Amino acid sequence: MMVLADTLEKLSNACGIAGREEEVRSLMRNFLKPYVDEVKEDKLGNVIGIKKGKKNAPKVMLAAHMDEIGLLVKTISKEGFIQFAKIGGIDDRILLAQKVIVYTEKGPLHGIIGSKPPHIQKEEERKRVLTYDELFIDIGAENQEQAKKMGVKIGDPVGFDIKFAKVGKNIVIGKAFDDRVGCAVMVEAMKRLEKTECTVYAVGTVQEEVGLRGATTAAFGIYPDVGIALDVTIAGDVPGVREVEAPIKLGKGPSIEIADMGLIAHPKVVRLLVDAAEENKIPYQLETGLPGSTDAARISLTREGVPSGVISIPTRYIHSPSSLLSLEDAEKTVKLTVAAVQKIPKYF
Ligand SMILES: [Zn+2]
Repeated sequence: MMVLADTLEKLSNACGIAGREEEVRSLMRNFLKPYVDEVKEDKLGNVIGIKKGKKNAPKVMLAAHMDEIGLLVKTISKEGFIQFAKIGGIDDRILLAQKVIVYTEKGPLHGIIGSKPPHIQKEEERKRVLTYDELFIDIGAENQEQAKKMGVKIGDPVGFDIKFAKVGKNIVIGKAFDDRVGCAVMVEAMKRLEKTECTVYAVGTVQEEVGLRGATTAAFGIYPDVGIALDVTIAGDVPGVREVEAPIKLGKGPSIEIADMGLIAHPKVVRLLVDAAEENKIPYQLETGLPGSTDAARISLTREGVPSGVISIPTRYIHSPSSLLSLEDAEKTVKLTVAAVQKIPKYF
């Protein structure tokens, strides 16, 4: 589990706003390399680690997305403040007063998301949430010219300034666990797979957060017989959440998804995952009715169709600057992934 934590730490601290996944991509290439026969990259930037199996055995595609939600520099004001666009589903309420990093060609710059000070806001203004276009990033530049000299350009990616931390025995806090934990689990699963009958394609996908785009092209190229997305799901075991709204709990093992907005998991894949969990005494949770979707939704619609499913790691505070998860759950997800891949030839 130490190795898994270490891999997750490196991936979590890296920046990979959707469409700007370079840093995560190079980490993934290096992480996958020792455990696969070949590492490829497709034209959109997906990283594909291939572990060859027996001839005529099924092809399986594992997918974990490398990108994260974030911001892009939209305009630089005369006074040197940066206004921004949002990339992916970001709630305006979580933006104010966040520390961020602007990734410029000349290197990273620290900044704070600011607003008009509350003291001088009108009564009405104080009552409502300030929307992102009323906020700005302050990098301490005196004016536009200085901001440009510091390296800031329109379109530069901006990420949250959060460092990975261990908080409890097996609990960690960090940035972009959605879906760096899926990436870390995939790497670890490839390491432990050793021999397989199936040919396994371990894919770090791009641009998931803006519409499952990378998975679409990767799956088209691979055209697997089975698709499994490794992603996070909402752990709803916090105050104010009713069980019916989010029944998945932290520390109770991976979640096997039945259905979400974009996918009804193929019954044979659900059977495979449940059997693999039960035979190996891996605790698991079942989940349905999820808002949103994962890469598996796109994989399943490839060409003539691909039976697909999702294994998710319960995670609190998804789509906010920091989230929290249990390394035990991540470890059990690795075990379940390995066990499922080994069983695939019996089911497909
Ligand atoms: Zn995700």
